[in-house]
Amino acid sequence: MTTQVTIDGFTVDVTLKRMKYMRLRVHPPDGHIRVSAPHRTTIHVIRDFVHSKRDWILRQQKIIVEQSLSRSANFENGEIHYVWGNPLRLHIIESSHAYGIERTSDKLLMHILPGANRLRRKTILDKWYTEQLMQALPDLIRKWEPLMGVSVAHITVRPMKTRWGSCSIKSRRIRINTELVKRPPECLEYIVVHEMAHLLEPSHNNRFAALMNEFMPDWKKYRTMLNHAPICDA
Ligand SMILES: [Zn+2]
Repeated sequence: MTTQVTIDGFTVDVTLKRMKYMRLRVHPPDGHIRVSAPHRTTIHVIRDFVHSKRDWILRQQKIIVEQSLSRSANFENGEIHYVWGNPLRLHIIESSHAYGIERTSDKLLMHILPGANRLRRKTILDKWYTEQLMQALPDLIRKWEPLMGVSVAHITVRPMKTRWGSCSIKSRRIRINTELVKRPPECLEYIVVHEMAHLLEPSHNNRFAALMNEFMPDWKKYRTMLNHAPICDA
């Protein structure tokens, strides 16, 4: 059963169920908050928990709302688009002889043909986003292969609705969600290490957690930055 309570000015959906630890999530598209807690958790404990997460909740809500806006973006002048965790303002430059994206410290300059529609603009930015990932990934793979003692045969980038990455163990292929280009670079590195760890351990069991603790002791911090969303299907 779910009840709605107000804590620190937040509206929180609280669900009590069979579980070991309390969990808090901030959900798209509007940043609403859900807390799941073990049966018999008192409202005081839940209040303290939400209160202790206040700064984190506010940060997550800001990111989620801005990202929802960028998903429904029109790719017009002044819109905010994220690159490696930085909000950059889109600046459209119509030109009859060039198209593509140029990044400055605080802007994304989009050169487009006069009259280019929303889909055309989106395609140009998506292509540039994919290129950023494909430039970053080989170095990460090369860095982690000797450290982890595995080798990756293929790496691909594509939009995914519900996962940050996936790993096909047989073909040693890793797929990365395009969306990661919008998050801080350490999130991409965390997903790469997670997927590479599947080459050593296919499922999300204790051995897998031990491998992650060994290779990347801070991995839980990065998972939190990704709002506890599922990493992959393994
Ligand atoms: Zn996984």
